[in-house]
Amino acid sequence: MSDLNQQMAAKYQNNFLKEIEEQAEMGEWVKMCMQCGLCSGSCPTHFQDAWDHAPHEIFMMIRAGKRDEVLQSQGMWMCTSCYNCYVRCPRKVPVTHLMHGIAEYAYRIGQSPKAQTTQHLSKTFWDNCTETGRVNEVKLTRTLYFKDGFTAGIKKALAMQAAAFGLVKARRMNPLEVIGIAHKCKDIKGIHAMLAKAKELEAKHKEEKA
Ligand code: SF4
Ligand code: SF4
Repeated sequence: MSDLNQQMAAKYQNNFLKEIEEQAEMGEWVKMCMQCGLCSGSCPTHFQDAWDHAPHEIFMMIRAGKRDEVLQSQGMWMCTSCYNCYVRCPRKVPVTHLMHGIAEYAYRIGQSPKAQTTQHLSKTFWDNCTETGRVNEVKLTRTLYFKDGFTAGIKKALAMQAAAFGLVKARRMNPLEVIGIAHKCKDIKGIHAMLAKAKELEAKHKEEKA
């Protein structure tokens, strides 16, 4: 167990619903769910094998105190943010935001599934685009291709070489991005200051909720 996970488990003891309400974005909406199942029935991804628990199941499991099962679920990470559930929920539960909020909380306390591909993509994308304020496509692709090792990376790169050349030819990708010569925001310091402020406000908001 990570230190933060231990702290949270001790703080909330057997009240996992309260933990989610206070720690996950929009967590206070879980109790509004009336288990009609419309969200899960409307979800285009929950029929995939990797979706172990659909949204309404996750909300019920939170109320039932199934802490480990929820935090270690792949379910939240399968959400594609299509918003079908959000617009159809008769109780106006912001299902999409909840899915991401619970996933982020599980990640924050070190309980999300290891080697989860969406989680890896999210983190890689965030680290990449916040460095200069613009995505460096070459670095992003390289990191994703080589995440399973050198040989797997080379195989993927060779398989995708026609697409890469096409993008370069159409001027949609600049190979010089690999050495950092890429499009970037003019005011990188300003971007970083803005992100730091957003982080500070988010921490304050979480403190106020707790
Ligand atoms: S549609 Fe809304 S009320 Fe129905 S199960 Fe989903 S979250 Fe709950
Ligand atoms: S927003 Fe996510 S959870 Fe909701 S229907 Fe779309 S994929 Fe499913």
